[in-house]
Amino acid sequence: MPPLRHTPPTRPPVICPICSGRCFALDVVDFNKSCEELRGKFLELSGIAIYYFTCRECQFTFAPEFENWKESDFLEHIYNEQYTYIDPDYTDIRPRNNAELLDRLFGIYKDSITHLDFGGGNHLLSKLLRQKQWTSTSFDPFAEDRQDLSSLGHFNLLSAFEVFEHSPNTSTLMDNLCSLLTDDGIIIFSTLASDGNIAPRQRLSWWYAAPRNGHVSLFSRKSLFLLGARHGFRFGSFSANLHVFWRQLPFWAAHLVKGPVPPEQSR
Ligand SMILES: [Zn+2]
Repeated sequence: MPPLRHTPPTRPPVICPICSGRCFALDVVDFNKSCEELRGKFLELSGIAIYYFTCRECQFTFAPEFENWKESDFLEHIYNEQYTYIDPDYTDIRPRNNAELLDRLFGIYKDSITHLDFGGGNHLLSKLLRQKQWTSTSFDPFAEDRQDLSSLGHFNLLSAFEVFEHSPNTSTLMDNLCSLLTDDGIIIFSTLASDGNIAPRQRLSWWYAAPRNGHVSLFSRKSLFLLGARHGFRFGSFSANLHVFWRQLPFWAAHLVKGPVPPEQSR
């Protein structure tokens, strides 16, 4: 029998893309690890090892090899025809819940809001808001019919539900979001914070760490705070899964900071 061998795809030192801190190899998981394991659905093992690294300073955890993937790689291996099997809420339940959330939070101010749903998938969220007389546009980087980002214009409300964890390059994501946002705009986004779920000398069993879902970037609250600060944003969280970046808070979002915590948001 030959000796067992494995080769991490990225050799040390691995540097944190958010705070430039040094990272350590946290764990290796099978590529087919998916979020549906939370509901008892397990895919067959792929035998493909995905290495996650964690920053010692800000606890950002990420799989560096995906930085080198092309769009066609993501479409072939992750956002393919099997994707809805491992993310069944993607097509309907999640966009419906999130459209209701935005309407609850900002509906009475919708005449002052121009909204873009970034990572809008099948565009259902925007469609539902337009039915409620919102000015809403949808953009998805993997949609076949997507427009060029620079042609979309500027918006004072960006939503990015379940987007950040899919980004293999957080700088590019933030640059794209900033290019779409007005100075007095806000970014409301969901990504499940890793605090309490990822720690040194613990295997990465957390259900949200799921390469098959494209969850290649896992954020601690500190890493979100630092990522926002690098782009001049203040950062707040409503819950483990709902967050906001802003520079100047517009009047129609003042209640986010001063008021009560909004209702629970489903994943
Ligand atoms: Zn870091």
